[in-house]
Amino acid sequence: MTLNDLHTGDSATITRIRGRGAFRKRLTEMGFVRGKSITVLKSAPLRDPVEYRILDGNISLRRSEASLVEVISETDYRDDRPGGPGLQGELRLGGPLTVKPGKIIDVALVGNPNSGKTTLFNRVSRSREHVGNYPGVTVDSKEALFYHRGYTFRITDLPGTYSLSDYSSEERFVMEHILNKKPDVVVNVVDASNLERNLYLTSQLIDMDVTVVLALNMYDDLLAKKDKIDLGLLSRLLGIRIVPTISHRGKGIYRLLNHVIRVFENEDPDIRHVHINYGREIEDSIRKLQALIRQTPALTDHYSTRYISLKLLEKDDSCAHLISGAVNFIDIQDLARAENQRISDLFREETESLITDARYGFIAGALKETMKRSGSDPGFSRSQKIDRILTHKYLGLPIFLGFLWIMFHATFTLGSYPMAWIGQGVDMLSQVVRANLSEGILRDAIVDGIIGGVGGVIVFLPNILILFFFISLMEDTGYMARTAFIMDKIMHLFGLHGKSFIPLIMGFGCNVPAIMATRTLENRNDRLLTMLIIPFMSCSARLPVYVLIAGALFPENAGNVIFGLYFVGVVFSLLMSILFKKILFKNREAPFVMELPIYRNPGIRVILRHMWAKGVHYLKKMGGVILVASLVIWALGYFPREVEYSRDYKELISQERQKGTPQAASRIQLLTRQMESERQLHSYIGRLGKFIEPVIRPLGFDWKMGISLATGFAAKEIVVSTMGVLYQVDLDDIQGTVSLQERIRKEVYTGGPKAGTPVFTGLTGISFLLFVLFYLPCVAVIAAVGRESGSWKWAGFVLFYTTAIAWMASFVTYQLGTIFQLG
Ligand code: GDP
Ligand code: MG
Repeated sequence: MTLNDLHTGDSATITRIRGRGAFRKRLTEMGFVRGKSITVLKSAPLRDPVEYRILDGNISLRRSEASLVEVISETDYRDDRPGGPGLQGELRLGGPLTVKPGKIIDVALVGNPNSGKTTLFNRVSRSREHVGNYPGVTVDSKEALFYHRGYTFRITDLPGTYSLSDYSSEERFVMEHILNKKPDVVVNVVDASNLERNLYLTSQLIDMDVTVVLALNMYDDLLAKKDKIDLGLLSRLLGIRIVPTISHRGKGIYRLLNHVIRVFENEDPDIRHVHINYGREIEDSIRKLQALIRQTPALTDHYSTRYISLKLLEKDDSCAHLISGAVNFIDIQDLARAENQRISDLFREETESLITDARYGFIAGALKETMKRSGSDPGFSRSQKIDRILTHKYLGLPIFLGFLWIMFHATFTLGSYPMAWIGQGVDMLSQVVRANLSEGILRDAIVDGIIGGVGGVIVFLPNILILFFFISLMEDTGYMARTAFIMDKIMHLFGLHGKSFIPLIMGFGCNVPAIMATRTLENRNDRLLTMLIIPFMSCSARLPVYVLIAGALFPENAGNVIFGLYFVGVVFSLLMSILFKKILFKNREAPFVMELPIYRNPGIRVILRHMWAKGVHYLKKMGGVILVASLVIWALGYFPREVEYSRDYKELISQERQKGTPQAASRIQLLTRQMESERQLHSYIGRLGKFIEPVIRPLGFDWKMGISLATGFAAKEIVVSTMGVLYQVDLDDIQGTVSLQERIRKEVYTGGPKAGTPVFTGLTGISFLLFVLFYLPCVAVIAAVGRESGSWKWAGFVLFYTTAIAWMASFVTYQLGTIFQLG
């Protein structure tokens, strides 16, 4: 009986809330919980909605919602109190049954053919249904009632299916039973000797977001094979309680029923809804579809929007009738078709099979973590063969490190050619502009501000694209998931889960999506912890600084220096992780499955597309924040034009001109340089630099470096563009422009105790690089941390602690280096 069956003035007691998600939560919050009394006050003129009185409040529900609230009349409820006729602690079979609606548990048996459902059904219900050791015996559903521990079980034996889709009448039958009859608990009977295939169905139940207890049947077979399985961990990974059973001997069945009760009563802490990760593109499509489906609230009350979206993407018509009542039915269908097309075009594979693969990947990941097979499996698939090498106990890690090493070397070496071409292009452009514009502030702004700044950064586009190419390659082939797997053991040492490793690696691309990728971690503390250490993953924006400085100061070993920086970043993040785990997050972590998707050849198109999608972001920054920052820095350095010089340079220069001696030219050049340098020192930015100099001097930096670092807060590339603007010593150099690397190498102190010595030594270089590696990530990252952690405290914390670490790292490096004269 549901609320809809009551008439105006009737009272009843709530026995159960069906429905799901936000709807269920809303109802519970309003006091719709089991045992509460409810009275029908009145119906609206058109019989819908209806107003009810509950907990001294009036609440109106639509009829579609009221149908989800089950009730019994008040008198029935009293019989059902503890101490009533229900038998405690034993399975009472046979005999006439009085149905007690308050404590009925609807159970559906779902599983592959031949997994032992009917045997289990017969055991608990004492019936003699036909059991046969061949598939397809059960064609219809059988229902039986029995008591256990004061609960009435209404159990349904369903036909065996391998999956839940629209292919066969059995599958449709089972699916509709689950969707329409909404059993309280689905008991998924699984053949333990064939877990991989059997869990496929389980993965679909997970997607449906129904309450499942898993009967790991034929457990005797598993024991006989001497396979080992960590049931507790697997339970937690899947978010489903697993109970081993040997149903033809009746073993484990009581435990199974007890767990069904616990799950029914919401008393099992390990039960949770797990999202199987279908990969970025498909998840994107799911999100878009969900947004449309949510526009019809009646749908979301009854079904999981994620499930419907998936079904639509799979082109499974079984869901068509579910959404046919949606207000925007046509839009949903159109979007589903378009997204399906988009994905299959992109991967050149049916969306359906991509989804299937992802499910198997989820299962493979869960089993790899929890199961130790004794014998060798003859039917090894290609992916598993590849995995035997790539995730090998000893070889896995060196192979992965090798891959990273190649990645960073390629980034630098391969990137240096196009980098040089773009650099020449930028030089040419600046010469053309210089030649064609008349002398003045506009020309200086364009040449020194825009071209000097943006041009200094844009040359690194090839390096960044190469880096993104490798990251996309890892993501799209399925290797990324393996790296998480390889690293899992190590990550656990540092209080992290292997899955945290994926956001960390993504951090090499850009910290912002990496911080968003922590969403795949289900435990909030794990997420926070991962967010806190992501900033130490050198993002691609830091790469230009590395390439610039390493290329200028360590031309022979630039690749190794860069690899070393990334490596230091990773090691440091892990160390910080231990520290944070000890201080900030002490509780235990939630386990989650690391999907091990099958390896696939994504095709160069997909990889290039993903690479480009990331590269575009870089170009946009170039036209936006970097352009503006360059101009601002330039202006701050350009003004004021008139300053008081320590010497009368103009006079000295004209004297040299008149002398006309052979040395005059170089004397003039030197004087011009000193004059400009002194003017810059008195410019706004120079004063600012002088102001912060005391803070950075112990790190071996000059004020220009300090300013560059400060501007890097907007975006790390700006460090380079600022240097491009500030290190402009070769004013009107007749030989043409000189590359920024060259200029950095040539920069000398013009005054003070170090006058005449180069600003950049190997030691300052390292100190500077370390600072760039560690110090506060850009604003976008801070904002992302704030958003994703839901608290600006954490954002502020990241800002502060990374900068403190950067300063200390550089300080220690520079001071020790100076003591040991490593400069
Ligand atoms: P259904 O297709 O899922 O309904 O499976 P059945 O109940 O018809 O069982 C298939 C076969 O498996 C029968 O021969 C059962 O006796 C056998 N069986 C059921 N449970 C177990 C078990 O736990 N261990 C073993 N070894 N065999 C079982
Ligand atoms: Mg059967």
